Parts: sequence; structure tokens; C-alpha cells
Amino acid sequence: MSQISAKKSRDLGSVKIPSLLLLLPLLLCGLQAQTHYEIDLSEAPSGWLLITAETTCTGEQCDFQMPVWSATYQVRDFAKFIQEFRASGASKQPLDVRKVNPSRWRIRTQPGQPIKVRYRILADRPGPFGAYADAEHVCLNLAQVLAYPVENRDGPFTLRFRNTPRTWKTVLALPSQHGRYHAPSYERLIDTPAHLSDFDETEFSHAGHTVRVVAHPRGGDFNLRLVTQTAKKVVSVATAMMDDIPFDSYTFVYHFSDIAGGGMEYRNGTSIWGPGKCSDCPMSSLTAHEFFHLWNVKRIRPQSLEPIDFTQPNITPSLWFAEGITSTYGQYIQLRAGLSSEAEFIGRIGRLITRYQARPASATQSAEESSIDAWLERYPAYGRNDRSISYYMKGQVLGYLLDLTIRHATLNRRGLDDVMQALNQEYARKGRVYEDTDAIERISSRVAGRDLAPEFRKLVRTAEPIDWDHYLGLAGYRLDIAERARLGAGLTLSNPPGLGVVVSGIEPGGPGEQAGFRRGDRVYRVNRRRITSGANEVEKRLTRGTSRKVAVAIERDGAPLTLELQPREVIEKVYQIVELESPTKLQLKVRRGWLEGRTEMALDGALTSH
Ligand SMILES: [Zn+2]
Ligand SMILES: [Zn+2]
Repeated sequence: MSQISAKKSRDLGSVKIPSLLLLLPLLLCGLQAQTHYEIDLSEAPSGWLLITAETTCTGEQCDFQMPVWSATYQVRDFAKFIQEFRASGASKQPLDVRKVNPSRWRIRTQPGQPIKVRYRILADRPGPFGAYADAEHVCLNLAQVLAYPVENRDGPFTLRFRNTPRTWKTVLALPSQHGRYHAPSYERLIDTPAHLSDFDETEFSHAGHTVRVVAHPRGGDFNLRLVTQTAKKVVSVATAMMDDIPFDSYTFVYHFSDIAGGGMEYRNGTSIWGPGKCSDCPMSSLTAHEFFHLWNVKRIRPQSLEPIDFTQPNITPSLWFAEGITSTYGQYIQLRAGLSSEAEFIGRIGRLITRYQARPASATQSAEESSIDAWLERYPAYGRNDRSISYYMKGQVLGYLLDLTIRHATLNRRGLDDVMQALNQEYARKGRVYEDTDAIERISSRVAGRDLAPEFRKLVRTAEPIDWDHYLGLAGYRLDIAERARLGAGLTLSNPPGLGVVVSGIEPGGPGEQAGFRRGDRVYRVNRRRITSGANEVEKRLTRGTSRKVAVAIERDGAPLTLELQPREVIEKVYQIVELESPTKLQLKVRRGWLEGRTEMALDGALTSH
């Protein structure tokens, strides 16, 4: 964003005086008017929110836009939830409203007159990416409920909730005064978890910065002390590693419920959904991943995601880094915080490689391509294992391989942490956006002290097979491949956002095909039990150590249907990381540095400059 404003002021600087006079009205328009929202919760128990927005436009027409996407890289057309959109003028007279496209309304007005827009919106999507309201709880992805005045998008915004039940509290990671929340732009306004209920909460301080931990529902089946301990460890390890605490206050909002799962990152907070029965869940994995987003993607931002275009996708080749490397760091943070053991860490990488190798698309789709194609994920055809890989999965793998490469090249004097710190110092803290893979390659090469272009070509820009033994060998490991018999359903299952578990691939002649499954079938019960998490849960339940038939309830073309599946034994390849028998001193040095998250630089760093 700051690059764009810098360019604007340079352009203006070269304009000669007479034309500057002509530009004066335009410059005045540049000061965008304030917009105030009210979200009325009086109908929240039945899932409805009543929204009003007050603003002023400079021309005779004033456009309101509903984002077609936010945060998750999927077009979700939030306008589908809106009805009864109306506008009125200063003396409450109705104004003419015309629909321009499914997500945009055009209001006829008089220049400079205040206008008030009101509409109803259905909030029936629970989960970290949705908007949900009921009698106990209102939980909002604000981009899903707030239409914005196009010409004032970068002006100041305020927000207030009305008719909040008396026992409820509100959490928004935004400054507030007398119940009014403030943000300098629409983008900032929606960049916060928004949660209202009678929740449990606690708070701790880290080096003078406040961290708030909120958990819903009050008295639910979770252990707030355990979750808070996790948050403390994660905050302490991650901020030390980045040598940066870029917030005054940060809020973790946890929900424990069987209706949704996952996590969503915001600028100064996160919304995390765990299972309903969670009395001994530390919530380490989601907590570490979402907290690392504080830097990677929220502040260390690729140029392809800026400025955000709420009317169509921002196509980006960098999700392998923004999401995948965040997953790498999710694992590093857990390991370094003592939330997982070295054996667990190594075991998880083996399972990650097993899943990666099991997808034929690993040989055809590069990390950059899977980032660009993210927007296709809602189509079951795209989820086939011979069509696509996940940028989370491949990016996470690449994080480990790049780290090992840098550590080996520098005799463990530098590592991936130095790349993250450099991106933070040179881009995030200066308000700049990075030049996608080119910037990561340039900084990684500088940190490694040699040109990593060949590695970036192989690992990031193309889909060349990964030479596992080469990369793992840098730390004195190798890959062990075993074959294992297990029961299989012959189905590829995927989790397109908002669609539940969907059949995306069918093995020819396999049990799934014989049971009559079709691509696009939505699975919602296995042996009469509802599916509460994702594709992995279904996979397990279909093939749980029994050769008996399984009844699978699906939805096809909107109609329910039950299919009988007879799982069959299949042979699968299982990959495991094992230690080399006689590793060299350097290999051991790289291994210890990698597992302990340290470099020799930390010991003699003062002697060498960056
Ligand atoms: Zn919530
Ligand atoms: Zn993420």
C-alpha cells in the first residue's frame, strides 16, 4: 500500500502549477469521507443481522460494494446473503437504488449529502471464515457482512453493535471509545476477529505487550489454562525468533464446537475453531500457525496481494510461501517451544512426504502454479490428486528443504530464520510489499552466500521430482520407503471451503466406483455418524481396520442418498526419515542447528555484519 501512495505523490510532484489548480477539486475529493456502520443484533437469535452504513459521496451517484472474497483465496460472493438493500437521504427520503452487478448497488444522491444504507444479511455460516449469529453467539468475518462505499474505502471507518444481549462481551482487535470501534480504512476495519458472546477470557503480558485469550462457550469442555500456556509459549518463541513484537495488543479467540474447525489470521488477532470435546487440547498446531501469520502474510506481504481487490481475485504465485512456509514455522515454533518432541517433528515430516508423494500431481504442478490455481479449489474436479497439489503441503516441505540448504551452505551460520527476519526488516517494517518469489530467491541467496536460482527453479518454479536424499542428507538423514497394506476406499476426498467433504477422485475399478460414488458427491455421514471435521476423518472412518461394509450418506444434486462401500486392501508407500549411519561433522552440525532452531551466528553473530 505504501508503495502506491509513494507513486501518487511522485506523480503530483511533477505536475506544473496551472494544471495543479485544475486538479484542486480532485485533491479535495482525495480526503475520503467517514463511514459509520451499525450492526443490530436484535434478530441474531434467528440468524439475521440488520446493517446500516452512513457516509457521504462527492458525486451524484454513490456505489456500495460487497466483497466477493476475503482472506481465504476463494470467490464466495458474500452478496448472496444480503436482502432488502435500501438507501435514504439527509431528510430520510428514500433514494433510488439500482443494482449494477450481483455485488454492487448504485445510489442516486446529491453531491455532499449524507446517505444511509440499510440491509438485512443472513449469518448462518459458522467457522473461522464465516459469519454466524444465534441466541448464544455472534461471530463475524466482517468482510462477509459489511458492504463498503467504493469512493470512501480508504477513508476512516467506525463501527458499533446495537441491541447486544446484556450479559455479552465484545471482542474486536481494534481501538474503541464508548463502544465505537475505529479503523483508518475499510481494509483495516475488517482485519479483526469479531466475536460477541458471554465468553471466558484471560490475559497476559509479554514484554509490555498485551495478549488476550478469549474462549467460547463459557464453561465449555476446554481447558483455558492449558490453551493460555500454549499461547504464552508460542508468543514468546515466535517473537524472539523474529526479534520483533509488532503489536500493542493481540487477541486469540478460541471456539470449541463440533460445527466447524480451522483458523483464520488477522492483523492483531486470530479466530480458531477446535472440537467441542477438548478438555485436554493444547491447540498447539493452529495457535502456532495462525500466530506466525502475524508476520508472514499480514505484514510480510507479496506485491500480488496488494492492493486487495474485493471485486475479483488477487492472483498470487506466493501462497506456497505465505501459507506453506507459515506451516513450516507452525512446526518449528511447536518444536522450539517444547510443544512437540524431535521425534514427533521428524515423524510428521515423514507423513507429509508420504502425502506429497502419493499425489501424482506432484510431478506436474509447481508450487507457484498451485498458488495461482488456488481459486479453483472450490471445484471438485480440481481437487483430484492427479490434477493438483496443495500449496500448504508443498510450501511446508520447501520450507524445510530451503532451511537445510542455507544451513549447509553457511556451515549452520545462517538459516531460514534469517530470511524471515530480512523480509521483515526490509519489507514489512518499511511498509513495503515483496516482489513475490524473486524477492524470496534474492534474499535467500544473499543469506546463503551463494546463488540459489537452481534450487528455486527446481523446487518452486517447476515441478521437478524432489531429490529427497540430497536435501535430507544435508542434515545426515535419508528417506526410507516401506510398503504397507491397509484398507482403502478408492476415493479421493477433498474439503472445498464451505462445501464439507466432497468426493474429488475415484479409482477406476476400486471399491468407491463399485459402490456407485460419483465425483462431486458430498459425504455427510458414515455409518450414521455425522462428519464433524474433514476429509481425513472420513478417510479413517471408511477404512477403520475392518473389512465390513460401510454405509455412507451422501448428497448428490441436492438429494440425499446412501451408498454401501466395501473397503479393500491396498498397498501404499510410506516414507520415513531415518538417520544416516555415519554422518559427517557438518551434517551433525546442520541437524542440531535445525532441530534446536539455532545457528552458530547466534554465538558469534556480533563479529559478523549483515
Ligand atoms: Zn467467535
Ligand atoms: Zn494459514
